[in-house]
Order: sequence, then C-alpha cells, then structure tokens
Amino acid sequence: MVWMYVVISLAAVVVAKANQEIVALQSPRIAIVGAGAGGAAAAFYLQNSSNQSFDIVVYESADRIGGRVETFDDGEGHPIELGASLFVPANKNLIDAARFFDLSLMKHGSDKHATNESDNIKADSFGIWNGKSFLYKRPRSESYIGSIARLLYRYGFDIVRFQRQRQRAIESFLDLYNQPFHDLTDAAYAAGLTDYTMSNGTALFESFGIGSKFIQELGLAATRGNYLQNIDEIQGLAAMVSLSTDNAYSVKGGNWQIFDKMLKNASAALLLNTSVIAVQPGADPKDPWIVRSSDGVRAFDQVVIATPFHSSNISVHSSSGDLVKVQPVYYLHMHVTIVSASSRLDPEYFNLKPDTYVPESIVNCDSDTNAADLPFHTISLVQTRCVTSSSCQYIYKIFSLRKLKPDFYSEIFPSGTEIYWDYSKEWDSFPRLDPTTHFQSFVLDSNGLWYLNGMEQFISTMETSTLAARNVANLIIQKFL
Ligand SMILES: Cc1cc2nc3c(=O)[nH]c(=O)nc-3n(C[C@H](O)[C@H](O)[C@H](O)COP(=O)(O)OP(=O)(O)OC[C@H]3O[C@@H](n4cnc5c(N)ncnc54)[C@H](O)[C@@H]3O)c2cc1C
Repeated sequence: MVWMYVVISLAAVVVAKANQEIVALQSPRIAIVGAGAGGAAAAFYLQNSSNQSFDIVVYESADRIGGRVETFDDGEGHPIELGASLFVPANKNLIDAARFFDLSLMKHGSDKHATNESDNIKADSFGIWNGKSFLYKRPRSESYIGSIARLLYRYGFDIVRFQRQRQRAIESFLDLYNQPFHDLTDAAYAAGLTDYTMSNGTALFESFGIGSKFIQELGLAATRGNYLQNIDEIQGLAAMVSLSTDNAYSVKGGNWQIFDKMLKNASAALLLNTSVIAVQPGADPKDPWIVRSSDGVRAFDQVVIATPFHSSNISVHSSSGDLVKVQPVYYLHMHVTIVSASSRLDPEYFNLKPDTYVPESIVNCDSDTNAADLPFHTISLVQTRCVTSSSCQYIYKIFSLRKLKPDFYSEIFPSGTEIYWDYSKEWDSFPRLDPTTHFQSFVLDSNGLWYLNGMEQFISTMETSTLAARNVANLIIQKFL
C-alpha cells in the first residue's frame, strides 16, 4: 500500500496548488468529473491535440486518481492490480502514452515467479475448471508452437476461424480512431461493429462456423474470466475481446501511472476529495455551465462527465433546464480479494491427486451453478515470494460476484496453511454487456455537456475509456478552432 500513502500526502499539496490556479481561469474553461482513465485522458488529449490551450479542472471524489485502475502494494514493493490489470498491443492509446511518458511495460504476469523458487514446480499455467474437473490445462513451460499445437489438437480449425474473425474485428475497431464522431451508435454501425454487438457471443461464434467445444470451453472461460458473464449472455464483441488477451502488457509499478502522467502533463488543476453534486446551466451566457461540488461553485465553458452516471450522484440539468438522463446500465458488483498463503492451492479441492500441482490461473466454468452463487470466478497466482526454495509466500488474486465465505481459505488451501494477510476490494466493475446496437451518445447537451462512459456498453476497458476521451476532446477542440 506504500504508493497510496505517498499519493495521499501529495494530495494536499496538489489541491492547494490547484485552488490557486483556478482563480486565474482564462482560456476555455473545462470541468472534467472523474480522474479515472477517461477523465485523465480527456485532460491529456485536450491539451495535446491542437494549438488551443485549455484551463482544465478535474474533480475527483476519491483521495487518489485512477478510478478503477488501482494498484495495491503490501509495502514490500510488489505491486498488484486491484482493478484493470492488462492491455493488449492493439490498444494504441495506452501503448503510445506509456511510450510517450517513458514508462516501462512488462509482459502481463511476467513478475509472477520468484527467482529462488524451486525449479521442480510442474504446475500448469492455466486451467478451465467445471466445478468437478479441469476441462483444459496449459503447461507452464509450453513453447508458443506447443501451445498452438495443443489448441489445434483440441479445438481443430475453430482456432484459425476465430483468429481470422478477430483480425477483421480489430480492423473495424481501428476505424473508431478516425475521429471525431458525435454518436457512438452511428460510428459503430459505420465500422460494421454492431454486427458483433447485436448478438450474444455464442450466436456470433456459431455464425462464424465455430463449434460448441470451443465456445463452451475457451469462449466461456474468457467471458467469465474477464467480464464475469456467460458467453450466451454477453454481446459478441465483448466475447471476442475477452478471448484476445494474449501478449498482454502491464505497466511496471502499476497501470495508474499512465493516468497520473496524463493529468500532470495536461497541467490540470486536480481537486481530490471533491465530489461534484450538480451540473446546471448558468444564468449568464458568458458562463454556460455551473458546477457545484463539495469545494464550492464554479463556472465553465464545457463539462465532461467521465464517470458512470448511475453511481456518480450528480444531478445534471441541460441548457433548457431539463433533468438529463442517460441509458440505464447495470454494473456488476464484484469482490477482488488478494490473499497471501504459505502453500499453493490444495489439489484435493480441485479433485486432483494429492501430489499434483493445481494450475496457477483457474477460471470457474461450472455451468450447473448460477453465476452469482459460484464460490469464485477466477483464482490466479499473481506472485510467489520465496525466502528459500521451500519457504514461499503464494499470493493469489480471486474474483467473485459474492463475498468469499469465511471458511473459503480453509477449503482451497491444504490444512496447516498459514494465511499471512489478505485484502479485499469491492467494485461496481463493468456493465452487464447485453447484446445491443444502441449506445449512449457522447453529447448530453450540444451547448457543451459531454459524457464518456456510454462507451462502456460497447467495451469496458482502459483503452476504450481513453478512446471516448480522445473523441470528446477532439469534438471540444473543434468548437474553439
Ligand atoms: C476488477 C476489474 C478488472 C478490470 N480489468 C481490466 C483490464 O485488465 N484491462 C482493462 O483495460 N480494463 C479493465 N477493467 C475495466 C477498466 O478498469 C475500466 O473500464 C476503466 O478503468 C474505466 O475508467 P473510467 O475513467 O471510465 O471510469 P472510473 O475508473 O470509474 O473513473 C471514474 C472516476 O470518477 C470519480 N467520481 C465518481 N463520481 C464522482 C463525482 N460525483 N465527483 C467527482 N468524481 C467522481 C470516481 O471516484 C472515479 O475515480 C477492469 C475493471 C475492474 C473493476
């Protein structure tokens, strides 16, 4: 948790500095509500995409930046992501930003194994668990060719069919970087992406000629592992994204750094611990928007709401005085638990022979149990820390829709295991990604009121938050050119 304490102590300095800067707002005045990936990226792209400069105030109700990008550190300098943990090479905005800010990228999960851990560990790196047995296991030291061969052996040419369709989807997705556009529904339709979002993952994959074994094993594991949703419920594009996390990256030291750097680069005045309560039209045309927050009342030319509307507790009125509403979205409430134990997982719990190793990352694809009632959705070994080859701490990250049962650790670890510590975090994580062709518009009011998080019904990732932010930044810039 070390970095959090540092951020908290810096916060007071930043807020004081921000308050001084706010007095002298002169350039077009922009309020951004939320300092997560979307809000930070909006500030960055506003300030860096034209010669026009802006006076930007970022309101953040929490005591830290990052929102659903939060890095946990137990004080021994080993960061673990509690929220967004990875991004892929196709995520242009994130990759470019990490390079621009000179942040070190690492292969996601490459910091998992301690150097002095015994070489004799023969655990598989990944397993799909159906509640009774493992349907699929991937060996830890398998070569790239070996893993392709294994997938081809089990799923035949469905692997190739999926890869082809994924490539097509990525090319269509990249069309969204040709900005700006006002309406995501129109842009997604023009790029052919609503063909993917209109049906559920199972129906979409079947339309590609992909068979049920691939869908019910790899497909289901991916959608449950990434979005805690079933492949026959989640929209098809999200199912494809879930299956596309190979070669993923993380930022060494924590993904939050990208957004911290973006905010600093934008010279935005950052108001931490400051909740926006209301956004309403101003009485004077020179002050089109008034933002009421726990810090007071300020006037702005444009307002960007960069947080899910349903949980923001902001009352928003349009320039005509009407209460603004956005498409209702249901966010899944989930628990992320980090636990440090003296043993690896118990093979007995997973119906394996006593002397075998349990796969290091497990996705629960038990389809006989209601998703909300599963004891866990995923369990992943995120780090091993060994004092000697036989004395290690095994740190696991567990995703679940329900709070872990009090005796859960004694079930999944062998008897005699010492639990060194654990830490738990609850999130309103991502929307239930139902099939749809209609997405919330970025424009809440054409007089300069914008909303980024409608993008999450399309795909909920750090990259798509930055994509929405970049698009809205470009639309705002057009107004001032
Ligand atoms: C457990 C988990 C795992 C994930 N894994 C991945 C992953 O591996 N890769 C990936 O790309 N994405 C992942 N995601 C999704 C990703 O985290 C989000 O899509 C993205 O971070 C959303 O960013 P945002 O800025 O749009 O919203 P948020 O991060 O929610 O930011 C909104 C901010 O607004 C603030 N706020 C709210 N109300 C107010 C108010 N009234 N006034 C002022 N401030 C306010 C909040 O405190 C918050 O900081 C994951 C999410 C979760 C929860």
